[in-house]
Amino acid sequence: MAHTTYAATRIRGLSVRDIRFPTSLEADGSDAIHPDPDYSCAYVIIYTDTDFKGHGLAFTIGRGNELVVAAVKSLAKVVVGKKLRPIFENFAGTWRELTSESQMRWVGPEKGVLHLAVAAIVNALWDLWARIEHKPLWKLLVDMEPETLVSTIDFRYMEDVLTREEALQMLREMQTGKNNREERMINRGFPAYITSAGWLGYSQEKIERLLKGFISQGWRHFKIKVGQDLEDDKRRCKIVRDVIGEERTLMVDANQKWSVKEAVDWMKELAPYKPRWIEEPTSPDDILGHATIAEALRPLGIKVATGEMCQNRVVFKQLLQAKAIDYCQIDACRLGGVNEVLAVYLMAKKFNVPVCPHAGGVGLCEMVQHLQMWDYICVSGTTKDRIIEYVDHLQEHFKHPRKVVSCHYLAPKIAGYSVEMWEESLMKYEYPYGSEWKKLFSCGKYQDPEASPPPWIEHRTKGKIVYR
Ligand SMILES: [Mg+2]
Repeated sequence: MAHTTYAATRIRGLSVRDIRFPTSLEADGSDAIHPDPDYSCAYVIIYTDTDFKGHGLAFTIGRGNELVVAAVKSLAKVVVGKKLRPIFENFAGTWRELTSESQMRWVGPEKGVLHLAVAAIVNALWDLWARIEHKPLWKLLVDMEPETLVSTIDFRYMEDVLTREEALQMLREMQTGKNNREERMINRGFPAYITSAGWLGYSQEKIERLLKGFISQGWRHFKIKVGQDLEDDKRRCKIVRDVIGEERTLMVDANQKWSVKEAVDWMKELAPYKPRWIEEPTSPDDILGHATIAEALRPLGIKVATGEMCQNRVVFKQLLQAKAIDYCQIDACRLGGVNEVLAVYLMAKKFNVPVCPHAGGVGLCEMVQHLQMWDYICVSGTTKDRIIEYVDHLQEHFKHPRKVVSCHYLAPKIAGYSVEMWEESLMKYEYPYGSEWKKLFSCGKYQDPEASPPPWIEHRTKGKIVYR
């Protein structure tokens, strides 16, 4: 590693912006729990005293994005002013400083808004590191000595199932054949499935039209949203099966809609349509509930997948220990950035559970491709039963968007983590002052948050706050 290149570099500042896209206008992304998402992100840039910058983000679906932005501002002091050498040479320690900031951790720890903010900062740090090394992130990870890679992971709370030594052993065992696997990622890429036809708010005509288009492009794996209305789900599953035929794969996603028994009963009704997995059948925190569902559905040939709202490596650890998931769906910024995602991949390998990353949203496809390629080259060594989600929305805002060719993600070539957005897009969609938002407020499609008084009581009079 060319550590000398950043020996004296210091982080001089961090900016964070509230970026929102009005995706709810077209029902893009709609599911049983989130009928009107406006795909958004807290967008972070880390500035150094050189020309190198790091870009990172955490995805949200609209309201509440300002909370993540506020949490990033509160955490910024952990990294701003620091030199890069101590950050990257003890990345596990830096990660713990961010996740265990002595007072901030009370409003987490390692979950929710605070963890999303950690992810945005940590992702920006990794982007910065990869740019300094002139490598795409996957290649930075792949070229690391096992000792260096393992040094980025905080093993606290997971050593009862995976020790540092076991992780090292796993990585060392997979060193042979790395070059061939890397070639494959560059030439062929990693297989993908598509969710773009399956949003709950889409009409039958739109579903059929989109599916036929995707099939003509060669897609073989499709996911649709379920969970709002059983009869409607049967109708939509039948439409999809009729169009895609028996030989292609259907997955379904309930986005946490059901309680445990309801999930089992509902999926028994959908079993004739042969879904490969049910994704997020119930609360993301209900580890034993997932285990019950998985056990009940196994005889029907339906697997259980979850992870996009799994708070941290501890919950993943228990899902794996309890045999509650058949597919592990890491998310690039629900977990606390790259360091924690690496830890979960290694645990999944130990339990022999395939990882199929959650993607879509804003920038998730761009990020998870790097992680999955590292897993293929350095950890799992196989694409069997593994597939990356693909959604074709919003990629036009990214400077170096993912390249999906013949239904495979191709290994990124540009240095960094692929999350940098065009400045023009950031200017247009920054909420609430961006030019696109001004237009949406003036035509009445959205309410300007500043045009009406807030629903709480707070009067400022001559510098004093008066409550009455
Ligand atoms: Mg999902």
